[in-house]
Amino acid sequence: MDLKPHIRQVPDFPKPGILFYDISTLLAHPQAWQATVQQLEDAVRPEKPEILAGIESRGFLVAAPLALQLGLGFVMVRKQGKLPGPNVPYTYDLEYGQDTIEIQEGAIQPGQRVIVLDDLLATGGTMSASVELIRKIGGDVRGCACIIELSFLQGRAKLDVPVTSLIQFD
Ligand code: 5GP
Repeated sequence: MDLKPHIRQVPDFPKPGILFYDISTLLAHPQAWQATVQQLEDAVRPEKPEILAGIESRGFLVAAPLALQLGLGFVMVRKQGKLPGPNVPYTYDLEYGQDTIEIQEGAIQPGQRVIVLDDLLATGGTMSASVELIRKIGGDVRGCACIIELSFLQGRAKLDVPVTSLIQFD
């Protein structure tokens, strides 16, 4: 199934000049959403993950059903201050300033094979920070997957693991 027509493009959101790719329309369409999870499953299964990680917040929507489908556990990567601890933080640079993400200590066992999921890959900053955070607690990141990739931003160049995306915008 062609998923691209199910993504709504919203000009000037959340700020003037930004074109936002909205997955709400995809989530609201049961067949398209089922096909999305199925296509991700087909892409991720060969990597033999032992646990999935989802990035706050739309990454949770992707990782949770996929984890159920694969019979795996699911762990949350969240913005600082959202998870009851003890947590492990990772701080990374943004265009202006810094941001910190966290994962719960012991959420991933050392050496466990992990796939990291989000809804969209843009500059790759969020995904690469999440990969580094998971490595910090010993996870073996086997790849990243997302529904949408904004190819023109070349986010995958920031990542040293295989990246799967179902829809690309150039
Ligand atoms: P990056 O760090 O790769 O520049 O940005 C990716 C992160 O920002 C993802 O967590 C994603 O959810 C969010 N994001 C940025 N732009 C968009 C967009 O147009 N649509 C959606 N759905 N998420 C976006």
